[in-house]
Amino acid sequence: MNAPIPPQRPTLLEMASNFKEATGEWARSGFPIVEEKEYERRHRVCNGCDQWDSNAFGGVGRCHACGCTGFKLYLATSVCPLKKWAADLNKDGRPDSSETN
Ligand code: SF4
Repeated sequence: MNAPIPPQRPTLLEMASNFKEATGEWARSGFPIVEEKEYERRHRVCNGCDQWDSNAFGGVGRCHACGCTGFKLYLATSVCPLKKWAADLNKDGRPDSSETN
């Protein structure tokens, strides 16, 4: 069995596009922020991911798969590009704090 191929790092243009898409979706949804528990869950997942650079941006962190900074972990509309965690919205498009882990 072959070893998994790591995702290619995004170009500057792709990172700009990812940023525009992520913040646009966040704005359209009313700027929802996750609760602390969901932030911590996402942060734990990212910290265990080989795409995470916890030292980037003065300790804010950065995902090398999408190029986003650690601030994306606060946005309820954010998704992990490798599907390790999903957006935190209920069917009304509001932050979903009912999930437990
Ligand atoms: S967002 Fe996903 S791919 Fe990026 S560091 Fe976090 S878990 Fe890894």
